[in-house]
Amino acid sequence: MPPARLDAAARAAWPTPAGMRGYARRVVDREALRQERLVKNEQAARAYNNRRLRFELDDDSVDDDGDDVPFLCECGDETCAEAMEMTPEEFIAVHSAPNRFAVLPRHVLGEVEWVVEDGDKFWVVEKRPSAMSAAE
Ligand SMILES: [Zn+2]
Repeated sequence: MPPARLDAAARAAWPTPAGMRGYARRVVDREALRQERLVKNEQAARAYNNRRLRFELDDDSVDDDGDDVPFLCECGDETCAEAMEMTPEEFIAVHSAPNRFAVLPRHVLGEVEWVVEDGDKFWVVEKRPSAMSAAE
């Protein structure tokens, strides 16, 4: 008897792989998802800014006397693409801590970060450690 021929009874007797059974609906943790996106957005802005910084520091035609450079606001709003003027020195100082971000004044999402410095040009926010690990 060729092994490919299986009747209905044989099929039914086959064990069902666990993953196929019932297809349990998992609840989406929307809050975690939102926070993850938020942190990723900030990290994307920061990656852009790091490239910008390198460009500024490499450019010999620019005086390194602390001119403002248009960096990208690093807030968690994915629609925000606003420029934030700060000097390369200020940018480097803010980012000396891995969980600190520079944002425009009031571009703060209170539940995952808190303001550690507020100035006229930009604010510095510090990310809660739980929000950082959510994005990894
Ligand atoms: Zn912003």
